[in-house]
Formats: sequence, C-alpha cells, structure tokens
Amino acid sequence: MAQERPSGEAGDVESLVESLGVEARKDSRYSRQILFRGIGAEGQRKLSEARVAIVGCGATGSALAGLLARAGVGSLRIIDRDYVEPSNLQRQSLFDEQDAAESLPKAIAAARKIAAFNSEIVVEAKVEDLVPANIEVLLEGISLILDGTDNFETRYLINDYAVDRSLPWIYSAAVGSYAVTLNVLPGQTACLACIFPDSPRGMVETCETSGILNSAVNLVASVAATEALKFLVGNTAQMRRTLLSFDVWTNEHAEISAAKPRSGCRACGERDFIHLAGEGRPHITLCGRNSVQIHERQRPIDFAEMDLRLQPHGTVRHNDFVLKFWHAPYEMTLFPDGRAIIKGTTDTAVARSLYARYVGS
Ligand SMILES: [Zn+2]
Repeated sequence: MAQERPSGEAGDVESLVESLGVEARKDSRYSRQILFRGIGAEGQRKLSEARVAIVGCGATGSALAGLLARAGVGSLRIIDRDYVEPSNLQRQSLFDEQDAAESLPKAIAAARKIAAFNSEIVVEAKVEDLVPANIEVLLEGISLILDGTDNFETRYLINDYAVDRSLPWIYSAAVGSYAVTLNVLPGQTACLACIFPDSPRGMVETCETSGILNSAVNLVASVAATEALKFLVGNTAQMRRTLLSFDVWTNEHAEISAAKPRSGCRACGERDFIHLAGEGRPHITLCGRNSVQIHERQRPIDFAEMDLRLQPHGTVRHNDFVLKFWHAPYEMTLFPDGRAIIKGTTDTAVARSLYARYVGS
C-alpha cells in the first residue's frame, strides 16, 4: 500500500531520516561479510565500486549473479540471448514460474529478481548474443568477466578479448554432475586456449544430452564467485592457479596447474585472436535443444504489427521483450532486434525458410 507523504518541512525531515535509514540498512546488509577478514570495510567499498559482466545467465550465470548481487558488487552487466522456459526452473535460481509463463528474456528476469533483493546495486540487462561485432560495446568499462555461457565458441571469444585487453575472466562450466572452473589472469596464468587449444571432447556433452544436477552448478558458481570476490577486493595473490574439476556424484576431483601460460599458445603467446578477428559467427547457428538461432541485426521488429500479421498462421503472443509464434511443429521466439530462436528443428535451411516466410528474408 502506498502511503501519503506529508509535504513541506515535515517532508524534508522525513526524507532526511529516510536517507539516514538507507545508510543504516546498507551497513547492516553487508555486516556479516564485512566481519569476514578477507573482505572488511575496505573490501566492501571496493566491491561496491566494481563493474562485473556475466556472460550467459542460465544456471551458472544465475547463481553467479545472485551471489555477487547479494555480496554487494556495485554494478552487474548481465548479457543473455535466451528466454526463460519451464525446464530451466530446476537449476536456474533467479527465475520463477511467472517468468517462464511470460517467456521473459533471462537478462530482464534476472535484473528484476535482483532488484527485489538488492535494489542498491545497478544491474544492466542486455538481451543480446555476445559476438565479435558487439563484444567491445557489451564489455565496455568492465573490470572482470564471468562465464555463464554454455558453449566453447563464446568462451574462446571471451578468452581472445580478455587476453587482448589484459582483462581477467573466470571460466565455469557444469554438465551432468561434473563442474570445472579456471581463473584466467592474462600475463600471469594460463589462458583457456593454453589448456584447451581446441574444444575439449568431454565437454561437448550438453545439458540437453547429459542432464545436469543443480548442485554441480551451485558448487562451481560458489567457487568462481569467491575467486571473483578475491579479485575485486585486490587479493589476486590468493586466487587459485589451477584448472579445478569435480564430480559431485562420484566425488572425484582434480586440479591441473595453470600457473603459467603455455609457450606457443595461439592466444596469449602468439596473440593470434582468431575468434575476435573473425567475421563472427554465421548468421544461423544451432543452439542446442532442437533449435536454431537466426541472427539479424538490421531488422527492428514492431511486435504489435507482427502479431497481427502472424495471427492467421498460428498462435501468437507478445510482451515488450519477446514475441512467440507457434506454427506446429515449430515455435519461433522473436526479439525486438530481429533475432529469432526457432524450436522444433535442427535444420538451418528449414529455420531460414520459416524466418523468411513469416518475418522477412
Ligand atoms: Zn594462452
């Protein structure tokens, strides 16, 4: 219930008291973290000034964003190309049934959820696919990049960018009951390409084929978020310099040294940034779970108009962020910039033709 506010002097006094109240709340919000010696008041101040990007806001990204937002990292930029679906709710901790019912873009849903538990930090939601053409803009002003992606293509792109700019980033991945993470401190430690010159075979399993335990996600996110806190408070000496992997089901775990760059590494040795310099991804890519993504940058879509146009051909629904079109057996999700995810096929030609027929060629 909204309360009427008194006007005039009484209002000024009230707002002063209110602003003092905000300060007091701020102090108490982080009091238990400030008590922890590794953080302290100075560390907390540094966290409040930090700017962190989380690329991908599925399971790992949700957990990372939730932890860092509650810890008081002042500015989080959440970049995600996808929308919330019911099958996400088992492990993607920032989303709820309403988000799935509305097919909200994950970045938007995450920003809303974070605002409900920490309105004192800034969250920027970017509903975009991170590609070479936009990486500069999307990661501008960021001091640490966290990996919440689900594919090596984007991770190699992040690695090239981070090594080129000497920006630290933290690789995290989870599939099945297995999780793995690596801190990349360019110029000091190994980079992702030092350890995996090519996409590792074992990790081409995906959550669609192998399933995933939410506990594996939360474990890797907890380790990575803690490494992030160490970096943000200036304690890089304490950061782990190994590739750490563990299986929460079998309890097997391993660490491989990543303390030094590998000589001859394409990225940090030869500085041959093929993923950054490339023309970027093709316009059409498979994006798991029986779906194809079509990238279109120059086609802003008027959802109201498109809704009317598509109605004779199937079921259509839209909100401010996405338009969904069901035309059995396909389901097309359109974003305002013209990007589309077409479910029900892995055939890029079929997806392209559906897009051309209903959206435009
Ligand atoms: Zn390297």
